[in-house]
Amino acid sequence: MKKASIPELSEKLAAPLQALASPQRIAILLVIGKGEACVCHLEAALGWRQAYISQHLMALRKADILQDRREGRYVYYRLKNASYLDLILDSATLSGLSAETVSSVINTQTYPSCECPHCVPMLISVESLKTV
Ligand SMILES: [Zn+2]
Repeated sequence: MKKASIPELSEKLAAPLQALASPQRIAILLVIGKGEACVCHLEAALGWRQAYISQHLMALRKADILQDRREGRYVYYRLKNASYLDLILDSATLSGLSAETVSSVINTQTYPSCECPHCVPMLISVESLKTV
């Protein structure tokens, strides 16, 4: 088997770093974390317009970093590989932030302005309890 040259290896190694190299995409990954998030949740968390978020979601999906799943009227996005979060935490250290500062904001919040099932879980369950 032929050993890969350094330029060949470097090309492969740069791919995930290049796909992540945008503050907007990193912000999206921080909101999703190890869970999943729909576009409306990302909108509430980041305060950006839906079209703008969708554009970055598409790029992240194309780069094979995110996968999506449809449930009812929601499309949920999740990380294909949690190692991308490790990469972001390593970047925190390199940029002079503490890993704790960054990990404390990863997918922990719910938002009053968001109506996704993650933020309003009781909306469905109360009704379904009555019918049982
Ligand atoms: Zn939400």
